[in-house]
Amino acid sequence: MATRDHPAAVDADAVVIGAGPAGLWAAFELGLQTLAVHVVDSLPHAGGQCAELYPDKPIYDIPGVPVCTGQELAHHLLQQLQPLQVPLHLGQTVAELHADRTGQGEGWRLHTAQGMTLRCRALVIAAGVGAFVPRPLAVPGLEAWQDQQVFYTDPPPDVWLDRHVVVVGPGEAAVRLALHTAAHGAARVTLLHRTDRFTIDPALDDELQAAIGAARVHLCLGQPVAVLSDPDGRLLALEVATARDERLSLPVDVLLPRLGLHPRLGPIAEWGLAMERKHLVVEPSTLQTSTPGIYAVGDVAHYPGKRKLILCGFHEATLAAWAIAERLRPGQRIPLEYTTTSPRLRALLGADAP
Ligand SMILES: Cc1cc2nc3c(=O)[nH]c(=O)nc-3n(C[C@H](O)[C@H](O)[C@H](O)COP(=O)(O)OP(=O)(O)OC[C@H]3O[C@@H](n4cnc5c(N)ncnc54)[C@H](O)[C@@H]3O)c2cc1C
Repeated sequence: MATRDHPAAVDADAVVIGAGPAGLWAAFELGLQTLAVHVVDSLPHAGGQCAELYPDKPIYDIPGVPVCTGQELAHHLLQQLQPLQVPLHLGQTVAELHADRTGQGEGWRLHTAQGMTLRCRALVIAAGVGAFVPRPLAVPGLEAWQDQQVFYTDPPPDVWLDRHVVVVGPGEAAVRLALHTAAHGAARVTLLHRTDRFTIDPALDDELQAAIGAARVHLCLGQPVAVLSDPDGRLLALEVATARDERLSLPVDVLLPRLGLHPRLGPIAEWGLAMERKHLVVEPSTLQTSTPGIYAVGDVAHYPGKRKLILCGFHEATLAAWAIAERLRPGQRIPLEYTTTSPRLRALLGADAP
């Protein structure tokens, strides 16, 4: 069901932006309406905030599930979606939205920053607090080397082969990357962090200490404050302020900041949809935004009495899917069916498969 290959263009009845709990549930409900639905998310995995911000923390207020972690909830939602074969386009950030009057009547054309195009007749924005993007390393002028010597996503191995790599960050992503580059051909790997305490589990900490002990990874404690470059404009070193307020020069060929991700609503705020304090204003019985055919559900949606809870997102996603089915099938009655008893829904879900 979750495809990682990204076709150049797809046509769908509905596209859902965001594979958080609200987006995954919208895809499920749209699938039950036998609408062709595609889901797009900027993260490399589904689950939104639950998977990204609190994968191991327990959630106690999903009705019928006394307790599950953020990651378990994402897993269960994907499992539930599985029979409906909804394509998930992960690692794709929707950057542009255009009205599309070609094809089957009025619709929408979306472009992702990674080069994918999707056309649809209805759009569900389930973007939560926004697309998760890497937190930048705040050193003046550093952006000049982005994607040349400074990489916020993992570059191919030949970039670091035989090079002096500096990984910056406090957590698992930074530590794993330091260990990985050290084990795969970097000339020297330095892990740069303010303190010698990392927010990692004990097993990974043991691995890190062993690598430091064997001089496979070098630890540098301090805060980068400036860059040093050569006359050809090549990044040569970071100037690092230590805890004792000394300055040291740390040579660098390849800089890999891994400071975590932060959400940005980004282009969605520029699509001309009515907004209230960075949220999309919707009509609560259909979840339609100020533009007909565009719906918003979950944390990104705003209406009087809105509560940012997962179960509210599920309810909104359900109402939006019904409203979309009615919009795309004008004049047709959309009957209420129970998954327990409806032969049509049971067949869709593979419930009677041997
Ligand atoms: C620490 C913590 C604990 C919480 N605990 C609970 C709890 O116990 N119970 C509860 O009900 N709620 C809890 N919440 C809130 C809950 O996680 C949110 O209400 C829920 O995740 C909202 O779901 P969503 O699908 O609307 O958005 P999100 O989960 O934010 O998912 C949105 C997705 O959209 C993607 N996206 C955004 N913009 C784009 C774009 N342009 N292109 C592609 N993809 C995009 C993002 O990458 C993201 O994956 C908690 C939140 C936090 C931070």
